[in-house]
Amino acid sequence: MSLSEDKKKRLKEIPGIDTLILKIKNDFSVKDVPESLISKKSKEFVENLRKDIVSGKYDSQKEIDTDETAVKIYKTILKAHEPNFKRVINATGVVVHTNLGRSLLAKEAAEFVLERATGFSNLELDLKTGKRGLRYSLVEDLVCEISGCESAMVVNNNAAAVLLCLDTFARGREVVVSRGELVEIGGSFRIPEVMEKSGAVLKEVGTTNRTHLKDYANAHDETRTAMFLKVHTSNFDIIGFTSKVSLEDLSKLSREKNVILMEDLGSGTFIDFSRFGLPKEPTVTESVKAGTDLVTFSGDKLLGGPQAGIIAGKKELIEKIRKNPLTRALRIDKMTLAALEITLRLYRDPENAIKKIPTLKMISADLREIEQKAYLLKDQIDALEIKNLKTQLLKSSSRAGGGSLPETNIPTICLGIETNKFSASYLEKFMRKNNPPVMGRIENDRYLLDLRTVSDEEIKIIAGAFKNLKTELE
Ligand SMILES: *Cc1c(COP(=O)(O)O)cnc(C)c1O
Repeated sequence: MSLSEDKKKRLKEIPGIDTLILKIKNDFSVKDVPESLISKKSKEFVENLRKDIVSGKYDSQKEIDTDETAVKIYKTILKAHEPNFKRVINATGVVVHTNLGRSLLAKEAAEFVLERATGFSNLELDLKTGKRGLRYSLVEDLVCEISGCESAMVVNNNAAAVLLCLDTFARGREVVVSRGELVEIGGSFRIPEVMEKSGAVLKEVGTTNRTHLKDYANAHDETRTAMFLKVHTSNFDIIGFTSKVSLEDLSKLSREKNVILMEDLGSGTFIDFSRFGLPKEPTVTESVKAGTDLVTFSGDKLLGGPQAGIIAGKKELIEKIRKNPLTRALRIDKMTLAALEITLRLYRDPENAIKKIPTLKMISADLREIEQKAYLLKDQIDALEIKNLKTQLLKSSSRAGGGSLPETNIPTICLGIETNKFSASYLEKFMRKNNPPVMGRIENDRYLLDLRTVSDEEIKIIAGAFKNLKTELE
């Protein structure tokens, strides 16, 4: 196949790889970029350009310019060089947002992670005996102190905690669960499926809306029943004609029948949320006090720590769990342990915890404080004088997220952005493509930025995104 004269001309114009690499190195700041990446991206670009010319996909009549080509390659280098794991501004108003990384660590916890991650430690060394120690013991005392439990164990996440408990005590036996509590959490965690994976047999009792103590009693079988399991209905509310069995009653029954009572709290907390004028979420301490044998909860939901699964319970049961070989596969990492230890320490003084743990601070934030931030952002955006763009403070509601307080609207102040130039979904996309991405929400066809989850420093960044929008529009 012979190429047209045009194509031949274009191919000849392609700058040499070495020329391009040299130009990129001279013209742009690529000091931190590995040579190999610069050369790889340059070669890739030239190769694709050549293919496009031959195939006719590149059909510009313009001469290929070395400077322009270098700029294009530089952009692909930058894109490949920046981390995939990016900072995102959360202006959704969902405090514990699983897609955006759930809880932010307290500063103290984050600093401690850095220290323990960059130096050797007593992760599995008992400093008293000089012998091998258990990593779990680094936080066990604290969990016991704060929750009142006898013993504790920590694993990779709460899903792992539930799986491990079921696998240890209920493999091949029955676990009695109310039909109103067969929860699915965000698609991948469903109680019936976790049960199946663990080899436990699900014994459903009651109905979706009402389950009574006698349902549990009737379902009990001397040999088959291993456990009564209560699951916190984290992400939905059953309202109307409903009835649930209290933990206290179930605890009494489990003693009588000699079966284990376990509660999967999901988002466990040590703080009574009614103090913020919000509905009460069950606390870990209450669950322990009510007589459960095992309580499991997440580290990165309302607790406001790192991703982890915490099991608080009776000493003899925790000891058995520790001996389960699965623990090795579900084990918690040292950086997580470092963050968890400091987060738990903050709970020794609940007032301090509320001040220092971002998740608690955001949930309990004062409306005036949120309004002030909204005004600050409004002023900065208005100062840009973007044509036909209207900003307006609006009352709306935030969510706690993370499978907690599911139907609770937490009053908030948002900045609404409107323009007759483009739709709310165009704006949403533009903000999401910003660097760093800004995530807002759309309500009644209006783009909203909820300032509850935005820090003071982030206001400038959001305003910067609007500056980019202005440039794009002009
Ligand atoms: C969130 C949740 C889980 C899963 O916890 P992870 O820490 O995300 O693994 C399990 N059970 C309930 C009830 C939950 O709310």
